[in-house]
Amino acid sequence: MPLTVKPRRKRSARIAVTLISGLLPIVLGSFILYLQAGRTLQQGSQQTAQEALQQFELMLDNTAQAARELLPLAGQTCENVKLALREQVIRRPFVRSTNLVWDNNLYCSSLFGNFKEPVNAGDYVQGRLWLMNGNPVTPNTALLVYRLSEGRGGALTTLDGYHLSNMLRLIGRQTMLRLQVGASWLSMDGRVHEGALPQIPVAQSLLDSSRYAFSVSAGFPEGETWRYMASNYPPLFSLLVFFGVVSAAIGHVLQKRSTSPSHEMLRALEANEFIPYFQPVVHGDSKKWSGAEVLMRWNHPKEGLVRPDLFIPFAEHSGLIVPMTRALMRQTAALLGPRSSTFAAPFHIGINITASHCRDLALVNDCREFLASFAPDSVSLVLELTERELIEPTEITQQLFEQLHALGVKIAIDDFGTGHSSLGYLRRFNVDFLKIDQSFVAMIGVDALSRHILDTIIELSAKLDLGIVAEGVETQAQADYLTAHNVNFLQGYLYGKPMPAADFISALSHH
Ligand code: C2E
Ligand code: CA
Ligand code: CA
Repeated sequence: MPLTVKPRRKRSARIAVTLISGLLPIVLGSFILYLQAGRTLQQGSQQTAQEALQQFELMLDNTAQAARELLPLAGQTCENVKLALREQVIRRPFVRSTNLVWDNNLYCSSLFGNFKEPVNAGDYVQGRLWLMNGNPVTPNTALLVYRLSEGRGGALTTLDGYHLSNMLRLIGRQTMLRLQVGASWLSMDGRVHEGALPQIPVAQSLLDSSRYAFSVSAGFPEGETWRYMASNYPPLFSLLVFFGVVSAAIGHVLQKRSTSPSHEMLRALEANEFIPYFQPVVHGDSKKWSGAEVLMRWNHPKEGLVRPDLFIPFAEHSGLIVPMTRALMRQTAALLGPRSSTFAAPFHIGINITASHCRDLALVNDCREFLASFAPDSVSLVLELTERELIEPTEITQQLFEQLHALGVKIAIDDFGTGHSSLGYLRRFNVDFLKIDQSFVAMIGVDALSRHILDTIIELSAKLDLGIVAEGVETQAQADYLTAHNVNFLQGYLYGKPMPAADFISALSHH
């Protein structure tokens, strides 16, 4: 079959598929970029934490070194060691103060000399480090105390929190960077907080020092991944949008191709593959040829000759039936026109039309052009409109049928008896012929009810003064019955099957 009988997808479905094919690369690409941004941020926070860890270890090395040098002096009088304590403060860049301890009592300090304050080893994480929120000298200023003890003696060296928070800010930059010692932690603004470190929302990295009792955590604030993408990926985003547009366009075109038989039919129309076949119509009494019905065939390059019921519905749906009928009429006129001077009485030429022909007045011109190809009064053009597809009476249809009649074009109701046309309908469109559907003809001598309907149609047409054509006459018995009931015209295999133009023209000369 040349066309698949797959129904055309709905417009909304087609738009949805186009949108999806456009959005898919954008969404997928953005997802990959999101993952990539996440990975980059994770690496960034890992590096930052690593760097901070190293710096803090270096600073603590410096502080611990001071404590190691002072520890052997523990126990000596403050007077003796005071200078040594101060010397360490001056020599070591990060050391703020130094102190000596004996029997858990701080008895000598670089700042005050003789001093007296108990030392509680439990304040120090692993007995070594204490992050304090200042002391009486500098309250509310972070201070990191390093404790070294041996036997009854001990040394305490302190590291100024200013250096620590400064380092957090320098290394951290856009990162959230924190230093944790036991249950206290230092934020970038230099403040000491108590309690567990709050979770960092994006790309958190947590590193523990292997040498001192502290850890460092780094990460980014909420929404950082999107902010990072917005500032770093605009060219990639433009590329994604470009791919999206291309993909949507491809999706749109492919759908058009795959879902529309009209594409294939348009090609066939341009290649003149739709050709007329002719089936003779004979007089009821004399059985002489009174005319012919033009029946369309698709001369398909691969499928061969295709029956009209396989493609006419698609042609109607796509609106291509109008130009296809026009082409069929032109071919018919070109084939029969030159022979029209030999036609004895007006020769009936039946053309099938559909409701889509009745939406505007273009048909009038097609008919005028058709008739102009024939010798004057040599033909009678009959437009066959199937009863199955009744047309709505509107201003346009009224004008159309008036103008067609003015041209001398006749109207036949095809497949009569299968639809719902009323007397009003027949009058409104000035119908000239009824074509009795072949299903009734086939029932002659078989089914009493069908014969009854047939008789009623014949009576009706006589009363309304309409010409009547019986279709599908295949047997002599049917022909006899119809002739006996005064049916004017007969059409069917008994008199001739639809045939190509050449056969029809050569047969015409014998009749
Ligand atoms: P239709 O207008 O009712 O045409 C009569 C159909 O009956 C034709 O089928 C014809 O070959 C077939 N037929 C004629 N005599 C006999 C017979 O004795 N026995 C049997 N069994 N069949 C007979 P066809 O050519 O296959 O056309 C089928 C339908 O396709 C037509 O029905 C018509 O509705 C449509 N069609 C054909 N050509 C055109 C066209 O150019 N335009 C439009 N809109 N429709 C067309
Ligand atoms: Ca017909
Ligand atoms: Ca018919």
